[in-house]
Amino acid sequence: MTDTCLFCAIGSGDVPADVVLDEPYLLAFRDVSPQAPVHVLVVPKEHHDNLAALYRADPGLMARLMGAAARVAAAEHLDESGFRLVINTGSDGGQTVRHVHVHVLGGRQLTWPPG
Ligand code: AMP
Repeated sequence: MTDTCLFCAIGSGDVPADVVLDEPYLLAFRDVSPQAPVHVLVVPKEHHDNLAALYRADPGLMARLMGAAARVAAAEHLDESGFRLVINTGSDGGQTVRHVHVHVLGGRQLTWPPG
């Protein structure tokens, strides 16, 4: 946990969020600025800056994070219609919150490629 990290604060309950999954190591909550009818963020409760840092520190947790993202998509009834997982990483990747997170997006036709 870092004092200034928004997603650490959500993980510890200090900042409220619309939580859809709460497990010992992982949390999922609805994005405050949804880009699709379903837009959920899945995060490890432990702080890791980004995907590369998480993989270096704990590849097993990275695998669990991806599994949780797939389970969230199923719980949001996206299995049949389809969905997209996005992990923005670093500055060129468009990451704005420096705590690794998976976007689960669905509920409409998503365009490709991204801008
Ligand atoms: P990224 O740009 O990939 O780092 O994504 C960060 C995401 O966090 C954005 O989609 C924001 O809308 C979302 N976000 C920022 N603050 C909050 C919050 N307090 N609760 C839920 N989602 C948030």
